[in-house]
Amino acid sequence: DRAAAVISGTIARGADEIVEFQAQEILQAYNLPVPRTGLARTSDDAVTFAEDIGYPVVLKIASPQISHKSDVGGVKVGLKDADAVRDAFMDITSRAQRMRPEAMITGCLVQEMAPKGAKEIIIGFKRDDQFGPLIMFGLGGIYVEVLKDIAFRLAPLSREDAHNIIREIRSYMLLKGVRGERSVDFAAIENILLIMSRLSLDFPEIYEAEFNPVLVNKDKAVVADVRISLH
Ligand code: ADP
Ligand code: MG
Repeated sequence: DRAAAVISGTIARGADEIVEFQAQEILQAYNLPVPRTGLARTSDDAVTFAEDIGYPVVLKIASPQISHKSDVGGVKVGLKDADAVRDAFMDITSRAQRMRPEAMITGCLVQEMAPKGAKEIIIGFKRDDQFGPLIMFGLGGIYVEVLKDIAFRLAPLSREDAHNIIREIRSYMLLKGVRGERSVDFAAIENILLIMSRLSLDFPEIYEAEFNPVLVNKDKAVVADVRISLH
């Protein structure tokens, strides 16, 4: 199937990490909800994708050698029209090339913006030699490193495990909503946790996977960034 083909293709090339755009194919193969995304090689391409997706959009650097995109100024959100998209494309690609002269720049991903008020969470796993895949859940975005608010469970996860792991982090109350806010879609988060568990067991070749962020609001959760490494 598609996921297996992407993984064996990556191994055949001798690469350690699956390129983001191809990792998205794996997400689709597992029916994971992803924002609409196109891979633009030129700024004209980027505008065409943006008009198709609808404004506002997000632009992200696409390069097999750049996995932490924000570190090179490679992510711009809230682009409202064609001029903004063109400027962002030029800015992102030229800055990345300047900061990482050795990197091959494919272009930019053009992505649908998450709805306003969406919260950021992380869902991932890391393979332990002895115990197998350890599934991770936590609050995402800029708070991750500061709060270290993360819970773990060994795969396979049952639905009950998925339900419980969400409630183990201190920030659970934030997800439930404070001061009259609506609760996020917990069923959608559970669903992604269960899929992560399946992915970890289906492919022993994957050493580590991280969805960061998953953007969740009151009626859905989408995987906005994915990193999959094989070693
Ligand atoms: P990286 O982790 O490689 O720096 P991300 O794709 O995670 O790049 O983007 C960085 C940040 O930009 C995210 O943590 C999130 O805050 C924001 N972001 C990314 N994609 C979207 C999106 N589709 N809608 C809204 N915000 C986004
Ligand atoms: Mg990220």
